[in-house]
Amino acid sequence: MTTQRLWGRAFVGGSIRERTLITIEDGQIGEIREFAQAPADATRIADLIVPGLIDIHVHGGDGADFMDGADEAVGRVSSFHARNGTTTMAATTLSGSRGDLRSAVMSITRASRSARQSAEICAIHLEGPYISAKRAGAQSVESIRPADIQEIGALINEASHLRFIITVAPEIEGVRALIEHFRKQIVFSIGHTSADYSEAVAALDWGASHFTHLFNAMTGMHHREPGVVGAALVSAAATAELIADGIHVHPAVMRIATLAMPNRIALVTDAVRAAGMPQGKYKLYDHEFTVTESGGARLGDGTLAGSTLTMQRAVQNMVELAGLPIELVLPLATEVPARILGIGDRKGRIAAGYDADLVVLTSKFEVSRVFVRGRELR
Ligand SMILES: [Zn+2]
Repeated sequence: MTTQRLWGRAFVGGSIRERTLITIEDGQIGEIREFAQAPADATRIADLIVPGLIDIHVHGGDGADFMDGADEAVGRVSSFHARNGTTTMAATTLSGSRGDLRSAVMSITRASRSARQSAEICAIHLEGPYISAKRAGAQSVESIRPADIQEIGALINEASHLRFIITVAPEIEGVRALIEHFRKQIVFSIGHTSADYSEAVAALDWGASHFTHLFNAMTGMHHREPGVVGAALVSAAATAELIADGIHVHPAVMRIATLAMPNRIALVTDAVRAAGMPQGKYKLYDHEFTVTESGGARLGDGTLAGSTLTMQRAVQNMVELAGLPIELVLPLATEVPARILGIGDRKGRIAAGYDADLVVLTSKFEVSRVFVRGRELR
């Protein structure tokens, strides 16, 4: 058995505790207790130890994209985001042809089984293709099609050890039957949709439980027409993603949503291949987009094309731009996404019996060290 011990300030049980001794045994967290001074065999950590960050909506980074359908690309995305604090992710695809979607799922599945990956891929998030062409954002309109139970059945069979999230528009043909068919196996997320409030509430009744990047690519909230945003805010059992880059959603609205939806917001990056890369032109499936000085990624017509965010930066933005306390922000990047993925019993918290996925954050919320299942990334 390999045992290591870390001693310092840690986010445990919802608060920051001083002088905490964390024992890690064979990649899992063992005993956690207060210890007045660092024992001789423990590594003393000067910064804050937090649970590894969990990103349930990420397409790429470091020049690579999951839609590349290449094992090497999956490895690059996973390593890049791990260096930036993400220890668990849902590899996210885009609307693509049947063949491209299948090869993306196959490469993600192969990589998720290999021991070399850095951030652990626990799930696949299929963002489309059963979405609204009117709210496609930067997705491939040509690839959008009616929902197909057979297509999804075949994809989940390829990756039976992974969990699935599927972003769907309730108004698309076949979506209701798809949700009702797979509701026990798959997390259905409402997004890229022109649905109104009552259509969104109906989709929750069919079995959807989540909202993809709240506010973006959906009907907004008006006081006489609450829209999909209103349905998310008022439906206490549902969760929602928030792209906390300060570009997709105004910092004031990041704050409003978080306060209105306690423990129901999951911070996501929606990062594309340009994350971690210099300004310039990049490919997003069949579109080209440009990254400017501000870090914004846009198509030629100004449409946002994902982000260049990292989870570390999302946490930092929620504190520095939205003005929220770190104790309130951390669960949105750890516990809540773990719960959505159905892995809340082993990830998302620093607790005995949990995977030793740990990130050390400096006082400026920068990542200084990352441990995935007890193994430190270098
Ligand atoms: Zn996306």
